[in-house]
Amino acid sequence: MEQIAYVNGSFVPLSEAKVSILDRGFLFADGIYEVAAVLDGKLIDNASHLARLERSVGEIELALPETTARIQEIQKELVARNDLVNGMVYLEVTRGADTGRDFAFPKNVKPTLIMFTSTKDIINAPSAKTGINVITVPDLRWARRDIKSVALLAQVLAKQAAAVAGAGEAWMIEDGKVTEGGSSSCFILTQDDVIVTRQNGSEILPGCTRKAVVALAEERQLRVEERAFSVEEALAAKEAFVTSASLFVQAVVSIDGKKVADGKPGPMTNRLREIYVEFAKATAV
Ligand code: PLP
Repeated sequence: MEQIAYVNGSFVPLSEAKVSILDRGFLFADGIYEVAAVLDGKLIDNASHLARLERSVGEIELALPETTARIQEIQKELVARNDLVNGMVYLEVTRGADTGRDFAFPKNVKPTLIMFTSTKDIINAPSAKTGINVITVPDLRWARRDIKSVALLAQVLAKQAAAVAGAGEAWMIEDGKVTEGGSSSCFILTQDDVIVTRQNGSEILPGCTRKAVVALAEERQLRVEERAFSVEEALAAKEAFVTSASLFVQAVVSIDGKKVADGKPGPMTNRLREIYVEFAKATAV
């Protein structure tokens, strides 16, 4: 059965899901996206993703064409129509298609809203057991990385470089410090057992999984410090890991070909992954 996508009010086969060549998402990357995980047919941490969606669109003065409550209904209907058990729902909202290509915001143009799903067994992904290798690349992005914009060319290049190097992720570096992964938040566990992740701000996307993991760790009296760290510090750490909606918590076992600790996923990473999966299942909608 062909996959079903959602486009501006209609559920249609993926091959028929189309937007205009004048769509501002296509012409200017003038749009925002979100990705929520699906486990056992239910959305994971979706309130957090929808809150970030509202914040992102607000920062670029883009009005959502539907309420977030309606968006969640559409996400659920799409999951059901695709019989999706485990995977992700991608959603994107753009400033719509005008009659030409003017940079300034168009008047009276309805934003575009599209969604599609993909299948992934996030819990049993092989890399969850082995961990991933990462490479480092300069962070080439703009100054408002807190907005989940569809302008992802820097991450496309970063993740392509990782793919060519046989790595699972690229860590982006600015002023000698790790900002974040191409599509993940970065963490280390220091030798004195402090979980360190960069503080939120305009330099990084406020990861929903990062937020949940920090809260879950703090609830368990684990020590968390939100500050920038360098690759040297990560290589001297006990453990390193990344978080994202499509990975949950995933060990990083090498950076630029150098092992992190013994080159195997560490106990804290494994524990945080279990804690996150438990949280995800308990709060799924
Ligand atoms: N940082 C960047 C640049 C991302 O693109 C993503 C996810 O795509 C993340 C962090 C992780 O965010 P989340 O946990 O909300 O998926």
